[in-house]
Amino acid sequence: MASTTDRATTTPSAEDLKLYELSQKYTEEAAKRFRADGSAQFFELQDAEAERLRTLAEDPWVDHAALNAQDSPVKDGGRYKFLVLGAGFGGMLLAVRLIEAGVASGPNDLRIIDKVGGFGGTWWSNRYPGLHCDVESYTYMPLLEETGYMPKSKYASGPELLEHAGRIATQWNLHDKGFFRAAVKSAHWDDATSLWNIQIVESRGPGEPSRALRVQAEYFLTASGVLVRPHAPNIPGLASFTGPMFHTARWDYSVTGGSPQESRLTGLEGKRVGIMGTGATAIQATPQLAKWAKELYVFQRTPSAVHYRAQRPTDPEEWKTKIAYKKGWQRERMANLNSYLTNAPIKGQENMVNDAWTEMPAFSAIVGCPKWGFIEPTPEKIGEHVAKLYRLDLPHSESGRARVDQIVKDPETAAQLKAWYPTWCKRPTFNDEYLPTFNLPNVHLVDTAGKGIDSATEQGLVVGDKEYPIDVLVLSTGYRGPVEGDGNPEAQLQVEIRGRGGRSLGEKWKTQGASTLHGVATSGFPNMFFLSPTQSCSSANFTQSLEVWIEHIVHIISKAEEKASERSHAVIDVTSEGEEGWAGVIMQHAAFFASIAGCTPGYLNGEGAFAQMPTSQEEMIKKARSGIWSSGMAAYEKFLDDYRSEGSLKGFEIATAA
Ligand code: NDP
Repeated sequence: MASTTDRATTTPSAEDLKLYELSQKYTEEAAKRFRADGSAQFFELQDAEAERLRTLAEDPWVDHAALNAQDSPVKDGGRYKFLVLGAGFGGMLLAVRLIEAGVASGPNDLRIIDKVGGFGGTWWSNRYPGLHCDVESYTYMPLLEETGYMPKSKYASGPELLEHAGRIATQWNLHDKGFFRAAVKSAHWDDATSLWNIQIVESRGPGEPSRALRVQAEYFLTASGVLVRPHAPNIPGLASFTGPMFHTARWDYSVTGGSPQESRLTGLEGKRVGIMGTGATAIQATPQLAKWAKELYVFQRTPSAVHYRAQRPTDPEEWKTKIAYKKGWQRERMANLNSYLTNAPIKGQENMVNDAWTEMPAFSAIVGCPKWGFIEPTPEKIGEHVAKLYRLDLPHSESGRARVDQIVKDPETAAQLKAWYPTWCKRPTFNDEYLPTFNLPNVHLVDTAGKGIDSATEQGLVVGDKEYPIDVLVLSTGYRGPVEGDGNPEAQLQVEIRGRGGRSLGEKWKTQGASTLHGVATSGFPNMFFLSPTQSCSSANFTQSLEVWIEHIVHIISKAEEKASERSHAVIDVTSEGEEGWAGVIMQHAAFFASIAGCTPGYLNGEGAFAQMPTSQEEMIKKARSGIWSSGMAAYEKFLDDYRSEGSLKGFEIATAA
């Protein structure tokens, strides 16, 4: 825990004492939540033993009849240039940039594959009532300049985001390139042909046999997102609950009534509803449930910090004159937001986004900071760094707790809703309706004091010795986390990946630890690129991360393609020296992230795994290798810009194959 003695005084100040007390409280609260089983406390719905739970993972939105009636965009035995895995904003933006760069212009150049039934990624699957993207729409929605679209409000709703995915697909003619309900099972590099051999299984709906396909691709590009596979805690008896039950990631409107467009949840009238979990999703869905349920029980293990939202419609005049005011405005605005997230506001520039995200400088503890990016890995320097972060976070975390007292009338409930951990430990949330919901007579907070639900019965949930009977159960319990397995892409993608000489990517990661050049490619797996934060950089605005990664990948591919001819194709690999050099850079900066170790468990720290010291030096090195660039997105972007300007693409090896 943080030492608060970085000032050379013998008499501690009032702030020092406050910080000391706070750090004690944070430690106590975190200790209630550490569990020996860590991430193993959860099961992924798609892998559940009980059919009842397994079916909760199915895509409720897919239109099998319509897709079965279409010509398949991917043919068995076909050869494609770029095969993109993931049809969310990442895969779509990658496709758009490849098209714009002129490297994906032919009819068989591009295919985008996804397990779900259409474009949109997280916005395809998530359609729960109240859904909004809590990052400002003007910075989050991709390609606003290119599409000329003006978002309806400062924070876009789920339906608006899904519609935007459709807009992008239409503008760049992606509709006939999207292959849906299709799972890539394996991708094997063929040394003889220098192509990827890819096995795909297409599901065709109930009663229809699935279809297996084998295709070849020059490039295998993965854009599968980071929070994709919904999970739930292993609670004894969960499958025996007899009432309707679903996960927020697959909302069941046949139970609740209403639709993603209109949250009239009339099916819940007269019902006792339970929602399990109080993360960023539940913060948005709970107020909607509260409006319709007879009684709503909110089962809480750890409260979220809930900041103000101040949603407002877009003012067309402001849009024209202040937001979309010049070419390049969107990247500028993303950089402006990022400067606040990384505690380094750009001098002479106003705070363009100016929302609660921009008021939490200590969030930089997880996305990096240009001023503090390098910390010498000595216990003393690390202690100073962590103490500095606690001090920086104090006003913000205190104001978050004060906000609860201002809004929630019942003092006991208010006390239970306060977040006792630093800003960087769990994803902050933003909502103006959530806290007032607890003033409603039909809403009951069931705080489990960090322990979670004990068990489920046919009728409801049990906490301690009390059973709460409910009619409908909503699981808002999150997803498999991105740091599992040190970001091992094979496990994250659930694809068997073999590179040169048949080498397994999963095995490479396990033995060597995370190994990439700039976070985008790995040696021995030619023409494969990832969109992933591991060994690269991260932002609360995922679209900014996507833009930065994709610009780099498309540049490298474009340079390589200049060497290819009509009879040959490019083969891009990473050199071992290049990747080890990059791992060294990431490891040098690993100490910056020391403040995460003391955090209350959550998906950002592998459910508490980061607090456990690795058992050997080898494991310690692997942990350090799986980190991210610590000086923030702007510095990472500049580093990549300079690298590209230098021109030699050092660390990449480009060849051609017939
Ligand atoms: P989270 O993983 O953040 O939340 C899961 C919730 O389930 C937590 O409150 C967790 O408690 C609780 N939980 C887990 N196990 C138990 C148990 N045994 N008993 C009781 N409660 C339990 O998932 P979300 O879906 O809320 O959010 C995931 C991420 O999705 C966000 O962090 C964000 O990145 C993204 N998101 C983004 C949005 C946006 O607007 N951009 C909106 C919504 C989500 P505990 O905290 O104790 O583990």
